[in-house]
Amino acid sequence: MSQLTLIQLSNSTYYIPSPANVGLFLKNNKAILIDSGSDKEAGRQILKLLKEHNMELSLIVNTHSHADHCGGNEFLQKRTNCRIAATAMESFLIESPILESSILNGGFPHKRLRNKFLLAKASIVTDVIPNCGQILDTSLNALSIPGHFLDGIGVETSDSVLFTADSIISKEILSKYHIHFLYDVRSHFETLEMLKNRTDKLYVPSHGKPASQVEFRDLVDFNKYKIEENIDAVLDSISSEITAEEILALVCNHYSIEINANQYVLIFSTVRSILSYLLDEKQVDVSYSAGQMLWRRL
Ligand SMILES: [Zn+2]
Repeated sequence: MSQLTLIQLSNSTYYIPSPANVGLFLKNNKAILIDSGSDKEAGRQILKLLKEHNMELSLIVNTHSHADHCGGNEFLQKRTNCRIAATAMESFLIESPILESSILNGGFPHKRLRNKFLLAKASIVTDVIPNCGQILDTSLNALSIPGHFLDGIGVETSDSVLFTADSIISKEILSKYHIHFLYDVRSHFETLEMLKNRTDKLYVPSHGKPASQVEFRDLVDFNKYKIEENIDAVLDSISSEITAEEILALVCNHYSIEINANQYVLIFSTVRSILSYLLDEKQVDVSYSAGQMLWRRL
């Protein structure tokens, strides 16, 4: 991992660019982190940075429980005894990370799925917080951003920076990978609509660069466009009765995606979430025959 750096964004708000950006809010030399990086090494480098800047870690606010967002928790909590805050549903997975790979696999995760990308080290959530409003006694507010995962939050600072977690993905990443992890499609569309009406000074997606309001609105539109494209790719693959796994293969072929163990469960999960959305929207139906679940268009 290349050396992490600390970049000031506003009076009290900083961020540490990394594969999943880490936010930092500073008050009287006490630092609050927004997420903790992807693993122990990220945690080690974050702690080094804090020490170099004479900052003391008091709290980690986790936007959600995906391993690349809470992977540094365990190391940082062990070293500093910091508090960790997350919403109730996300806290279950932060404390028992085997649940994440179990949900993705829909059963006990085999060895190849028990890796650092899908299985963070367990840490203790000291503060279960609501998904909106002031976070404990800090100058941060939680913003509910359902859709990407179970009960994720964005974090708004008192100096008008909004950390949008995985609700928004950069154009570069979406153009390269085409389909990203998505749990609840209908809620995600509502989240995108809500984000488009925000009036913060600066926006920091976890996977992408900080954006002004104009840039951010354009980014929200692009995210919506890509998800609509993903939905069309699923619908176009249903020309006759077909299994979800066959749909996955056709979607991967459409986007020329080569899959490995992690991508298989992540993309398949998104395809099944899209199918659930389409079933609820009455655009597809499903039947069960000869041990198969078969999808068809309506
Ligand atoms: Zn995520």
